[in-house]
Amino acid sequence: MPRTRAHDADLVILGAGCAGLALAARLAEGDSGLRVIAVDVRTDYADDRSWCFWAGPDHDLRSIVHREWSTWAYQAEGEPARTHGVDGATYQYIRGADFYARYRAIIDASPTVELRLGVAAGSLRAVDPAEGGGVVVSTTAGDLTARWVVDTRPRRTVALLFQCFSGVEIDHGGALDLAALGIEPGAAGLMTGMRADADGLGFVYVLPLSATSALVEWTRFSPAPLRASAVRAGRDAALSSLGAPLGAPHVRILREEGGVLPMGRVPDPRSPRGNRFSRFASVPPAAHAASGTHGHPESIPGVVVAGAAGGALRDASGYGFARIQAWARDCADRLARGEAPVGHPPEPFVRRQMDRIFLQALRAHPERTADYFAAIARGVAPARLLRFLTDRARLSDLLAIIASLPLLPFLAQLPDRSRALATNSARRPDLVRALPRVRRAPSAAPSRRPAVQPAVAPEPTGDALEQVAS
Ligand SMILES: Cc1cc2nc3c(=O)[nH]c(=O)nc-3n(C[C@H](O)[C@H](O)[C@H](O)COP(=O)(O)OP(=O)(O)OC[C@H]3O[C@@H](n4cnc5c(N)ncnc54)[C@H](O)[C@@H]3O)c2cc1C
Repeated sequence: MPRTRAHDADLVILGAGCAGLALAARLAEGDSGLRVIAVDVRTDYADDRSWCFWAGPDHDLRSIVHREWSTWAYQAEGEPARTHGVDGATYQYIRGADFYARYRAIIDASPTVELRLGVAAGSLRAVDPAEGGGVVVSTTAGDLTARWVVDTRPRRTVALLFQCFSGVEIDHGGALDLAALGIEPGAAGLMTGMRADADGLGFVYVLPLSATSALVEWTRFSPAPLRASAVRAGRDAALSSLGAPLGAPHVRILREEGGVLPMGRVPDPRSPRGNRFSRFASVPPAAHAASGTHGHPESIPGVVVAGAAGGALRDASGYGFARIQAWARDCADRLARGEAPVGHPPEPFVRRQMDRIFLQALRAHPERTADYFAAIARGVAPARLLRFLTDRARLSDLLAIIASLPLLPFLAQLPDRSRALATNSARRPDLVRALPRVRRAPSAAPSRRPAVQPAVAPEPTGDALEQVAS
């Protein structure tokens, strides 16, 4: 008779940040009865980030929404701002500290879900079914065995573009000059002061939190991750232009946040199957070898990769919070029904293609990026653009976005057959002749500029931004 092995838990969750904590809490509040252990390398939670998303008035995180805006602005440098608003939706802001506290309280009250902090997970390995099956996770607090593992640890990512940002929440004593960026009273500034150059797009993100405080971020879309010092310099310049320079007596820093988000992840051909998007980075190379998985835990039966590492972030925007929450609810419901955990649903074909073409066009013509975003904000009805940003776009919304943009740079990014179809159906043979040569794949792109090659986020050392792809 095969010897069975008692697992430490039904499910072990690796990484208890946005995704891992949400899944653990959903399982705890659903009273599934499953034994769950969530481990995280951090020893405590800090107010390290905030999350924004669009939503209606009713949802189950409503009580921790700290601030919301019914209008939001886009503005390219030197042009008037476009202020958008959509009936029934607001742009909502949740503080990291409130999110962590709420979900930790739910987990603490559960007899079957446990959060272990200060525990770093390492390699994973499958257990022979004859030995009881499941997965062994090596951790700094010893091995853990489980039937299933959901791995949300951040990983290095190869991507078409990177969204590098540095922000600071400040008390400015009422001195913030929002009008300088065309931000109307009561509005949030999503992409303001947009300025593009040969290396990418920079813009200011401003969330006025009260009459005397605001979150101000400087963001760069660039083909390779930038040094933290460069992004911080952009942030400091933005604060100065808003009349709130750091170091001034009326400006006090309340907290800081920043990161590097991949936009348009590039599949990793070395991955054996399943989620093929990136290389496992939380574990040193020696641990990959020891695990026998070549750094791809998703190749082990019973292991699911989720969160930003599992493809939760929208390619074209880097937004992922709402998608992660929806996934956590779905995954917890399935587990409660006795099913296996699932990762994030694959991006529908049309959305994936739209996002890719858009990002390729941004990479091919970084100097025009501000014009593209300004054209969309000007030419697309707010409700249509919002549906696009929140994964609910209809065909007519996609067509409206396409119609707002200059055709040639985007057609040039289509694969051959689609390009022929598009130009033929538009009955514009002149377009066919005018089109530049097709870029078949990022790696095959003409090496006119080294920046056009997909880049990989650096190891988070030295001056590089620390939050790699999370
Ligand atoms: C500063 C910032 C602001 C953002 N703002 C928004 C926003 O406004 N709206 C939006 O939609 N998206 C936003 N995002 C994008 C996305 O929603 C977040 O990155 C989100 O936190 C991703 O969740 P996650 O669980 O995948 O990763 P994380 O929340 O980063 O969680 C990963 C966890 O894994 C842990 N970990 C790492 N290594 C190990 C290890 N070896 N063992 C155990 N644990 C480990 C980490 O400590 C961490 O707690 C933002 C991202 C950042 C960085």
